[in-house]
Amino acid sequence: MLDLDGVDIDGGDRLPCYPLDRFAFPPISLELRHRFSLGDLFLRPFAQSAGDQDIDFRLPRPHMETSILACCTQDGNGNTPNHPFFWNLEIGKRTECLLTLATQGGNWDLTVELRCPNPNCEEAMDLDFSLAELTSIQRQAESKERVELQVGSQIVSLRRPTGLDQLTWRSHSFPNEATAVWTMMQSLILTEQREMMQQIWESEPSAIATLNQSMMQNDPLVNANLTVNCPTCNTPHLHSVDLGALALQRLHQLQAYLLETLHRLASHYHWTEATILALPQWRRDRYLALIERERQG
Ligand SMILES: [Zn+2]
Repeated sequence: MLDLDGVDIDGGDRLPCYPLDRFAFPPISLELRHRFSLGDLFLRPFAQSAGDQDIDFRLPRPHMETSILACCTQDGNGNTPNHPFFWNLEIGKRTECLLTLATQGGNWDLTVELRCPNPNCEEAMDLDFSLAELTSIQRQAESKERVELQVGSQIVSLRRPTGLDQLTWRSHSFPNEATAVWTMMQSLILTEQREMMQQIWESEPSAIATLNQSMMQNDPLVNANLTVNCPTCNTPHLHSVDLGALALQRLHQLQAYLLETLHRLASHYHWTEATILALPQWRRDRYLALIERERQG
């Protein structure tokens, strides 16, 4: 659970001009690296190159996330891993990749906009987090490959859910939330512990909900909880934040800026999309500035 006290509160949204060409892909397990025969991986900045304008932000979220990751991930030779690799990444890792892209490899902060839940206050607050602050807590959680949790007198061992799990669960319809949670836990637990889980479900179904809560706490980037002292009413409040959604929102804004750039340059110079996308960012920005200077006379 991401729990940061005493964070700085300020406003302002920054969009620096020229980020690095690429940044390191977040660390992945050796098992995954071997399974997909991968060497070093890199992420390139989103909304700079051909293909970025094609990402459809109306897709269901798991598909949208996979499209973005596949678009921006390359190995040392410039090749992109196959899509199954991205689906087999844990949801927390997929979120970390999105946050890496949304912060341009940590060069920008991520701004979280909150509102004090005290009905007599409702103060708006902007909190800036660095990528390092966000991911350090994920690293602690990931130091163990599986999550070991106590249920009654038993210790159960579960893996963290992947994009593929998310996709599978979304394709099912469940009669109620408790059954959905039980099905999810059954798919994450060690195979040899499934029978034990079945017995727990039949004898003490509430234990499964508790297990789910504990699992969520072991996936801090997916289920971020921020304890923030409101500067106006001076009261601490817990805020649940969807960091992945915030990252996607930022990436959508960057794509909107790219589309506007394409529109302005194509309208003015009558260049094709491909020609404009082949230009480095600094030249596109320079041409935009020249067009603006001309427009203002
Ligand atoms: Zn307040």
